[in-house]
Amino acid sequence: MSAMPIVNLLEHAQRLTASGKRVSVLWQHDDTLAFIARGRPHRSEFHSDPVDEVMYMIKGDMRLHYRTALGEEKVAVIREGEIVRCPAGVPHSPRFSPDAFVLVLERKRRASEHDRFTWYCEGCGAVLYESIKHVADYNMDPVSRAYEEFYGTEKSRTCASCGRVTPRP
Ligand SMILES: [Zn+2]
Repeated sequence: MSAMPIVNLLEHAQRLTASGKRVSVLWQHDDTLAFIARGRPHRSEFHSDPVDEVMYMIKGDMRLHYRTALGEEKVAVIREGEIVRCPAGVPHSPRFSPDAFVLVLERKRRASEHDRFTWYCEGCGAVLYESIKHVADYNMDPVSRAYEEFYGTEKSRTCASCGRVTPRP
């Protein structure tokens, strides 16, 4: 890659759709990570990053579900052309359609840092399942890996508090 990479966001988003993947990394270094993501149907988990995350809606609108410090769920609507900063540690769930695209700006994780992917029970609100990962390389698409774990066994989707089983979509 060039030392001064320039990316056309819409062209890159079109190539992402053609690839069938969800995420395309533009670059990742110690102090800067940039990727384009398209929406995932049935996104249900909340992601907590160890670093601030800036999201810019390239195409389409996003409903950004997030949880306050008191555990209350709220929704921020980020429209096409708008940008939002999600502070480190705020559990958030970006929900937008597969033909919409977001540019995400973060930084590469330090060796001691972990990302959390948390599902909450729709029956009783308890934590249903949590995947905690060190994300060494964003090309691994950590969100998809967490969904494979969650849907991989019924045990992951069974609430320890109330017994409700979250169905597959
Ligand atoms: Zn429950």
